[in-house]
Amino acid sequence: MDISYILNELGEDRSQYFNAVAPPIVQTSNFAFDTFEELRNAFANEDSNFLYSRGNNPTVDILSKKLAALDGAEDALVFNSGASAIYCSVMANVKSGDHIISVQKPYSWATRLFDNILPRFGVQTTYIDGTKIENFENAIRPETTVIYLETPNTLTYELQDLKAVADLAKSRGIITIVDNSYCTPLYQQPLALGIDLSLQSGTKYLGGHSDVLAGVLTGSKEMLKRIFNEQLLNTGSGISPFNAWLILRGLRTLPMRLEHISKSTRKVIDHLKNHPKIEKIIFPFDEDFPQLELAHRQMSGACGLFTILLKANTLDQIELFTYSLKHFLVAVSWGGHESLIMPQAAALKPEIFDANNESHRLARIYIGFEDPDYLIKDFEQALEVL
Ligand SMILES: *Cc1c(COP(=O)(O)O)cnc(C)c1O
Repeated sequence: MDISYILNELGEDRSQYFNAVAPPIVQTSNFAFDTFEELRNAFANEDSNFLYSRGNNPTVDILSKKLAALDGAEDALVFNSGASAIYCSVMANVKSGDHIISVQKPYSWATRLFDNILPRFGVQTTYIDGTKIENFENAIRPETTVIYLETPNTLTYELQDLKAVADLAKSRGIITIVDNSYCTPLYQQPLALGIDLSLQSGTKYLGGHSDVLAGVLTGSKEMLKRIFNEQLLNTGSGISPFNAWLILRGLRTLPMRLEHISKSTRKVIDHLKNHPKIEKIIFPFDEDFPQLELAHRQMSGACGLFTILLKANTLDQIELFTYSLKHFLVAVSWGGHESLIMPQAAALKPEIFDANNESHRLARIYIGFEDPDYLIKDFEQALEVL
């Protein structure tokens, strides 16, 4: 399906709403019924009827049709955050005694689910280095039901070979879930490679303006119907009509935003690459990236996020450099209009800082919509302080 058709037309029936070009925000909790039969049908199939907006809502429905099509999926569920998409997709596929294989250092709230919540219900997780397929094979147990992936990782960008993991998991009857937030369906299509469930934080590129939280889950109709009935309705974690409308609005410009950010990111990286104050740059499409061949095989783009290893000797130097940047906000998240920096050292207790530990000198950079030359100039002056 053509991306232009998906983003501009699919799911929109303007004759239903005064031929308005922008779809309405159907701000209602509740829907009324003309016959018992219609009501009965809505109770039986809440996922495909409008009964109550905790489940389905017309504004959300337009969005989910577009998101399913973008991923080449049968269906999509839209959550009120990426964290709830993670929670619901995992919870729907484990029971007491089951075992999960996860890549090392997945998104922090996936880690908390695996480490803090699931062990209370008898579900254990093994973390592996996902860059090698044999690590998955070796970790599989008879009770493994889920393999949890995130490719690329959003600090150090390790990749997993999605097709190889999907093939292995299928042969053992294991469900695969991947966090595709970094690429979005525009730059990586996990379901086409055989992955069962693909999720994203819609808060990042889909919303694109740092003003809305959302999560997306795509997969088969059968699997998503079960997750809708068991998880989304029970946790009440569906997206609100207004937030769904903001994501719809964000989607209109997604291709051009990613294209702009891709070009700017490339330009900034080329400039920083051989800077004497920067020891290394980590970015999936960088020529020195260890998994570059795989990155080009399964991703059609990479943009926005990369990580620099600073040549610094003290925590104070890193803090001084960070706040010498005039046009980068110090903040978590990414995917919006504004450029960001997140130094790893900012999260450490000062007494722990060790300049010999490379991970303490990493700083994640996000390139927003600003002119790349404007950002490069800012880097130039800030790196002077190191
Ligand atoms: C932000 C993020 C999430 C969580 O999404 P929220 O919308 O913040 O709940 C999950 N995975 C990755 C890779 C993220 O960057």
